Amino acid sequence: MIITRTREELYKTLEAFSKRPGKLALIPTMGNLHDGHLSLIKLAKLKASKIITTIFVNPLQFGKNEDFKKYPRSEKLDIEKLKEEHCDILFIPRNGEEVFSKHEKVKTLDSGTLGSELCGKIRPGHFDGVLTVVNKLFELINPNIAVFGAKDYQQQILIRKMAKSLHPQISLLKAPIIRSKNGVALSSRNNYLSEKELDIAANLFKCLQNSVNSYKKRKQLNEILNNANSFLVSKNLMPDYFELRDSELNLVSKDNFEGRKVFLGSVTINNTRLIDNIEF
Ligand code: AMP
Repeated sequence: MIITRTREELYKTLEAFSKRPGKLALIPTMGNLHDGHLSLIKLAKLKASKIITTIFVNPLQFGKNEDFKKYPRSEKLDIEKLKEEHCDILFIPRNGEEVFSKHEKVKTLDSGTLGSELCGKIRPGHFDGVLTVVNKLFELINPNIAVFGAKDYQQQILIRKMAKSLHPQISLLKAPIIRSKNGVALSSRNNYLSEKELDIAANLFKCLQNSVNSYKKRKQLNEILNNANSFLVSKNLMPDYFELRDSELNLVSKDNFEGRKVFLGSVTINNTRLIDNIEF
């Protein structure tokens, strides 16, 4: 694996790889890699012969009082995991300047109405930051394919919309959610939780499963959502939101059982926010 830490190194490496046949797939991450991230690489390999992973804890997507400083960083271990996965290129910028150069104006993207709903309601500006960095990575790398996890459902929808207008040549893949044995969706932020808290966190997935089952039995949506919120509170998981949307994240009218839907939830446990969803 070739490790690049500056734009110059990145460009040189990409230039060399452009002479090799096959497609280039990009997997953007913030590091602290777990099996969820690695599954994105495995999926990418089915569609592309050259894999580039980026590790960049993007300051633009963290709010003032959020965990940018303490976000878990584990560079050495991440590099080992990527080598085992036979990733070809890692771009791990030595500082923010290698992504957002001071010689260029940052093209700040606006995530629109959807960007201020669901997670965006609790984290104002978060998705503008995500889109801004992903757009920049797309500009720097110009991959054929980019892979994003379904775990961050709203993120992948917003990126898809952005890419459709700004980078229509890039195909986006959505990778399924990887969970631990008890059902908790893997996340770097799970590191903040104790074993006991992780057991409690598993109730978010249970709640999503119960809600899907009830919906399929055509129970009233209001009742499902009320039950879900009460259930989460009873387990000491404080709901930030729990909603049903269609698969594009449009609001769902009460009696429309047609088409693909997604239940999405966000809960806080011991100051840590966890998100999860089930699309069906
Ligand atoms: P992050 O490092 O949290 O920014 O995540 C990088 C990418 O990995 C994003 O596309 C996430 O959606 C994806 N990802 C994170 N956790 C999981 C998971 N448990 N299953 C599948 N994809 C995931």
